[in-house]
Amino acid sequence: MTAKIPRADFAIIGGSSTNVLRFPEQVAFPGIEILGVYAGWDTPFGPSPTFILFELAGRRTLTCAMHGWRPGVSRADASRQVFWVLQQAEVKQILAEGGVGAINRLLRPRDLVVPDDYLDFSVRKDVDLGTGRLGIMREPFCRRLRQVLLAAAMTWPGRGRVFERGNYVVTDGRHFESRAEVRFFGLAGGDIIGQSVAPEVYLAREIGACYARLELVVNYAEGVVADWCHSELSDIFHGEALLAGRRLLGTLARLPVIPEPCCAELSKGTLLREPVGED
Ligand SMILES: [Zn+2]
Repeated sequence: MTAKIPRADFAIIGGSSTNVLRFPEQVAFPGIEILGVYAGWDTPFGPSPTFILFELAGRRTLTCAMHGWRPGVSRADASRQVFWVLQQAEVKQILAEGGVGAINRLLRPRDLVVPDDYLDFSVRKDVDLGTGRLGIMREPFCRRLRQVLLAAAMTWPGRGRVFERGNYVVTDGRHFESRAEVRFFGLAGGDIIGQSVAPEVYLAREIGACYARLELVVNYAEGVVADWCHSELSDIFHGEALLAGRRLLGTLARLPVIPEPCCAELSKGTLLREPVGED
């Protein structure tokens, strides 16, 4: 773990839709060049997951699989390791993907959703990198990145429809939710449900990077429309993996290289101070 962390303007955080692939090489996207494979770096939060550095259309990009989660590593620590590495690499634009359950009964399995907001019901709220930055969650997912993700979803369509907004409900898992919980989340305004947005969305804001996600609906949440079966969920992941990879790389190829992330202004210095003594 001695290699220096390379600089990269872009990052792709792989989720469950690309997890069955060797991403990005197995996508065979034209013009992609693998620059390095790094077994991991020491971080203040433990050893990081493996990262791949690649270049596509002049865009240097770091990527890791499945949010960096590994057996024996908590999701909070895995997320901190990943985002600490991205901070050192000075990453400015981050794309992520995942599989989600449908709370909104208008959705169907294989639909794509580019969420524009979230409801955090996880308990991982105090996960940070220690910078003390104040994250403003007014527009949690970068509007500019979302537009490019949407365009890529249209360019590489699957069997589902594409939705340009939605509220992502975050839970801790690893289990799925009960029917009563799903009913409650629906009343609260949730459209889709998963476990990946928090703490990533907070950490992206903490490092001042733009962040947006493309979600693949893989099942109905419990009590919505119909019971899901494990084999269908597996079929969707395997059937959509290459497409999910193409959409991410297609988005990357279309993103401009920018000197400063447009979302950096939503991260401010903290107003809180250390307690001051009596005298
Ligand atoms: Zn932005």
